[in-house]
Amino acid sequence: MARMPGTVYRPVRNFHPNGVREHRGLVLHVQDGNNSPFGWYNDPASQASSDFWVSKSGVIEQYVNTGVDYAWAQVAGNPYYTSVETEGHPNESLTDAQVEGVAKIYAWGHGEWSWPLIVVDSTTAHGLTYHGIGGAAWGGHTGCPGDLRKPQRGRIIARAGELVSPPAPHRTVSVAHMVTAMKADSAGPQGDVTYKTEALLLESALYAEGLLAKQWVDGSLGTKTREAYAAWQRSKAGGSYSESAADGYPGIQSLSRLGTRHNFLALA
Ligand SMILES: [Zn+2]
Repeated sequence: MARMPGTVYRPVRNFHPNGVREHRGLVLHVQDGNNSPFGWYNDPASQASSDFWVSKSGVIEQYVNTGVDYAWAQVAGNPYYTSVETEGHPNESLTDAQVEGVAKIYAWGHGEWSWPLIVVDSTTAHGLTYHGIGGAAWGGHTGCPGDLRKPQRGRIIARAGELVSPPAPHRTVSVAHMVTAMKADSAGPQGDVTYKTEALLLESALYAEGLLAKQWVDGSLGTKTREAYAAWQRSKAGGSYSESAADGYPGIQSLSRLGTRHNFLALA
């Protein structure tokens, strides 16, 4: 049962039991109306529902057993993404309270399923996406949530990052730093130890996963570390992410997954 704390839980009839296949992230929608859609979602004739709804004042309602059963919000995207409806119309921006509410949902999903703290315009990548990107396969709602709300996803993610139980600064690992360090290291004999604290977190996690021998946990991201990271990208625990090249260079999706298992926060 995946119920988010701090929401008003109002289970509805419209959902597909045990239909969730992956936890890729969250899809942002606009209600194009006002007031709780509970009655609409509870009426089988509407054929509609969502996981969450956030009012203009920031009230969050949850309607289904998120992450297990799916709501009827984005057709072909339903088994893969959680959905959030936001009160109001496409020609209105999200209120500050709505940004906060959606950020809370995202931070919760980050903790539950390692949703990475990024905005994506995609129907497959893990992150915060939007309804219209799915085109006909997602119901043809190309104007959802509209040009005012779409760019507000950046603020939502930034706020979610603040809400995520913040690890101490020394428990963050940056994708950009790790890729830079790996490239510098393979070019020189001594390696780049500029990001040694982060590199040690990365290597310790790979060691704990049984993918890297202890002697290579040295803060220098050499060939062995890159091979171990490629193995992580290919592994089941690493997830079936879009880093299918599995080239050993960390991406935000596989690094978030690793960070959730080993207590560090992955940053882009
Ligand atoms: Zn929508």
